[in-house]
Amino acid sequence: MTQPVSLNCDCCGAHYQRVALEPGQWARCVRCNETLESAGLFTPQAWLASVLAALITFLLANGFAVATLSFQGSAQSSTFLGAVAATWHAGYGLVAVLTALVGFVLPLLMLILLLLLLAPLAAGRLPGYFDLALKVLGLVRPWCMVPVFLVGALVSIVKLIDLASLVVGIGLYATAVSAVFFTVFSRLSPERLRFMALDAGLPVHMPGARRAPSPACLPRAWALLLSAAILYIPANALPVMSIQAINGNSAHTILGGVIELARLGSWEIAAVVFIASVFVPIFKILLLGLLLWQTQRRIETGLRRRTRLFRLVEAIGPWSMLDVFVVILLVALGQFGNLLSIEPGGGAVAFGAVVVLTMVAAHSFDPRLAWRWAGHRRRTHDVSRQAQPVTQG
Ligand SMILES: [Zn+2]
Repeated sequence: MTQPVSLNCDCCGAHYQRVALEPGQWARCVRCNETLESAGLFTPQAWLASVLAALITFLLANGFAVATLSFQGSAQSSTFLGAVAATWHAGYGLVAVLTALVGFVLPLLMLILLLLLLAPLAAGRLPGYFDLALKVLGLVRPWCMVPVFLVGALVSIVKLIDLASLVVGIGLYATAVSAVFFTVFSRLSPERLRFMALDAGLPVHMPGARRAPSPACLPRAWALLLSAAILYIPANALPVMSIQAINGNSAHTILGGVIELARLGSWEIAAVVFIASVFVPIFKILLLGLLLWQTQRRIETGLRRRTRLFRLVEAIGPWSMLDVFVVILLVALGQFGNLLSIEPGGGAVAFGAVVVLTMVAAHSFDPRLAWRWAGHRRRTHDVSRQAQPVTQG
């Protein structure tokens, strides 16, 4: 490193000089204890190879059926996009667009962006669009929900297996591999890619110190959070889907679905759906509300714990999409004319909106504000303080 590079902590706003890390080491913020940078074992070439493999797997996952359901002599199979189309044709355009975005469009865009960034880096070049692509990547990353769709598909299979005979398709296996890739790629943050280019000796532009956190983020986050809390009521009160069968019609709410799974003896799946669809949204709304209130009241205690809890709220955000994915798959697979037909319900629309609103609320809150109002100014922790390298294990 020829000249000192500064490193900003996104959680508390502290400022550091970047220190050289050995592979397997990471640097932690001495103030809030969040990870500032971790030294990867992969070269840009290795990352490029895994992105190419992920792209092929992702296309396979979407080109082949997730499952085929056989019922009274006829069979119905569906891909992920087939499930989106079935939801669209059932008159639930908003749910269709939302699931298409988080399950297909944005994950595909993320892979294309990684490819466009890593291919030149692997060849030792810095593309002209480097900064723009990193910016878009930062916006797209939190909305890629392939691992959530995988668990949703597994839940759908458990729900359908008692109803009719079901065969798992290549699409599901490919989705499982894709989910692993996307989990690994969550480590490829824009900062990480920037440092990768810097370490390769490329003339990369390093952003300076971030602007001070603005108190304007609080009313915005409150408005989004309160909207989510209000919509959480119809999300649970209205049915997320209805089943029309020869032996009668039935409407299913989220909690009703959990009880039914438990009644069928699938306790583990019932617990997964309960945690993702009932516990996580309530936990997220209450916890974010508490964090916003504590910041607004300028409470100075427990800042490290609060920062950790905010990170947790961000991390669990996408998992409440689980039930929405279950609904669209059941709608696509459960189409057997008069014998059996599954339609989405208004609860699914409200539920999708709750997930989006809580995630946007969390993203619009700046956790650095709590530190700043507690008197931790950026200047007092200036570049003289070095990030601490920590060895793994
Ligand atoms: Zn920090």
